[in-house]
Amino acid sequence: MSKGGWQILPHCASEAENLDIIVACDGASSVGQVGNEVAIKLTKENEGARMCCLSAIAAGSKVHINIAKNARKLIVINGCQLECASKVIRNQGIEPTYEITIAKEGIEKAPTLDFDDEDVERIAEKIAKEVLNK
Ligand code: SF4
Repeated sequence: MSKGGWQILPHCASEAENLDIIVACDGASSVGQVGNEVAIKLTKENEGARMCCLSAIAAGSKVHINIAKNARKLIVINGCQLECASKVIRNQGIEPTYEITIAKEGIEKAPTLDFDDEDVERIAEKIAKEVLNK
């Protein structure tokens, strides 16, 4: 199913080796939501970059574990220092290409789902520069 104007993404299971796969913890806090929005922004603005389902990896889905294993690059975005996304990946014996923790990037972890767009832009730019466009 698709609608006019929707950006249709590459199929991550069949094209993982040609994709920079991004997983974010999507935690229910300011920093978790910044991380999720950064993952969305990177997916929308960088051809060959594609957000993938971290929960499916955590749940043991073989298809999704293989996407993470076969990715051209694997970019892991954690909200806070608990680094849940990195742990999910390493629990599967996979080593990320790149990891970032939003709470170490000058953003306070607060009990809110709100965030500032400037923070999203700044961190998305940093990731694009440090790993996507290399
Ligand atoms: S890394 Fe932090 S923000 Fe993300 S899911 Fe874990 S506890 Fe929540």
